[in-house]
Amino acid sequence: MTTEDNAVTARVDGVEVATGHFIGGKRRDSTEVFEVHSPIDGKHLANVSRGTAADIDDAVAAAKAAFPAWAALGPEGRYPYLIRFAELILEHRDELATVETADVGMGLQMTRTHMVDRSSRNIRFFADLALKINDRVIDSPEVTNYVRFDPSGVSALITPWNGPLMLTTWKIGPCLAAGNTAVVKPPEWAPLTCSLLADLIAEAGIPDGVVNFVQGFGAEAGQALVEHKDIRRISFTGSPQTAKTIARAAADRLVPTSFELGGKSPNIVFADADLDLAVNHAVVAFRSGGQGCTNGTRLLVEESIAEEFERRLTETAAKMAVGDPRDPATQLGPLIHPVHRDRVQGFVDRAVEDGAEIAWGGGTFDQGELFYKPTLVKNIRRGMEIEQREVFGPVVTWQTFRTEDEAIDLANSTEYGLSSEVFTQSEERAMRMAARIRSGMVWVNCYMVRELAAPFGGLGLSGIGREGGEWSFDFYCDIKNIAVRKESLPRD
Ligand code: NAD
Repeated sequence: MTTEDNAVTARVDGVEVATGHFIGGKRRDSTEVFEVHSPIDGKHLANVSRGTAADIDDAVAAAKAAFPAWAALGPEGRYPYLIRFAELILEHRDELATVETADVGMGLQMTRTHMVDRSSRNIRFFADLALKINDRVIDSPEVTNYVRFDPSGVSALITPWNGPLMLTTWKIGPCLAAGNTAVVKPPEWAPLTCSLLADLIAEAGIPDGVVNFVQGFGAEAGQALVEHKDIRRISFTGSPQTAKTIARAAADRLVPTSFELGGKSPNIVFADADLDLAVNHAVVAFRSGGQGCTNGTRLLVEESIAEEFERRLTETAAKMAVGDPRDPATQLGPLIHPVHRDRVQGFVDRAVEDGAEIAWGGGTFDQGELFYKPTLVKNIRRGMEIEQREVFGPVVTWQTFRTEDEAIDLANSTEYGLSSEVFTQSEERAMRMAARIRSGMVWVNCYMVRELAAPFGGLGLSGIGREGGEWSFDFYCDIKNIAVRKESLPRD
């Protein structure tokens, strides 16, 4: 990676990472810093610049200054820059994966392949799609309507710590392809891969100021960003609590927001399901410390197979290999931070106080204080906190049902609505269930299919709006309809 000679850097598992901001194409370091430790072994990774409102001001000013020229390039003019950026992500696979794994604790196998590939595709896909976005013509008897997707200005992009590489590129891709410029506020518990992305943006020749990164805390840099008067869009992925704070800031200027938030997703297993498939998908909720927004954390199992399913689930979960995520054999990695571990433990403790039963798990492994055991919580009473609120750890609740109506009633019993899984071999049942479940995504006999062209997002506490495919451009662009009376414009 290329970092400026005078930029402060840290070495993270052999990779040089700049620890400052990236504003107007230049590195800038703050005197105030915050420490970043690896969740894998607690090792100190870096002291990262702690951004202030003044840094945000400068970053937004740089993005605003860069906007007219970037917008004027049009999709074709922006295309080569974005494709080069996408290529560079693949060329720097090892560095990106190494740092993402050290910073987040996600398996190296996963970051090296899926996360890097997907991050590159996030850029390329939207660069391609933007070429076709202004083609829409709606004919009516007297006029022809030409639909334009115009760039809207400076976007605030805010991401969480559980997959910063993939989630930041998922925002940068459509934002830049749409012709907007951006200020990114990376997550403070895992800020380092975003810094590598800044280097690649510079190396791709993307003009200075088009993408800026300000490191720091949510309540400081993040809040200053969403309150900034020159921000035209806010794309936020994170918790519902933070989304509410951001919505209040956005309300003052009616800034459009896109919220991709938490989940409490049901995983519904019918008696006619392929049980091997269903079990293998159910245990995914324990991987990566259970820190996935779409994880099926509420298992709803048809009563007639409950005993058999629990036996198989217990056996499979017990065999999952816990350990260092850099080891390819590892399936269960650490939680991100001691504060988060305490939060997860708090949910489990309160569940027990509420009368739930911990069938297995419920605490940490000997491997380290952040390695939390896969945990199955039974004896759930309706309305209990553990049934209602996102834990964001490897903790799954267990409930059984007899009929489709009961399954729907349980599935729709929380205020979240991000995703859901249905395991059955009946197409009719799958479609009946899918129509009645309140969630933005329904996965039938599969999990976490995030097709780039399809809408992604949730309802209720899980979010507002959809991104993916043209839905991303609906959000990032100012959509304009130009109605031209037929034959009123003689050809030039
Ligand atoms: P969080 O809401 O605490 O923080 C997310 C980001 O917001 C961080 O960068 C943080 O610094 C910033 N932030 C915090 N306060 C802010 C403020 N007042 N103004 C502006 N920015 C602020 O969430 P988290 O703990 O980092 O992430 C976990 C949550 O993210 C979970 O709820 C998870 O389900 C959700 N998530 C959702 C998706 C999705 O696609 N729906 C994907 C990943 C994670």
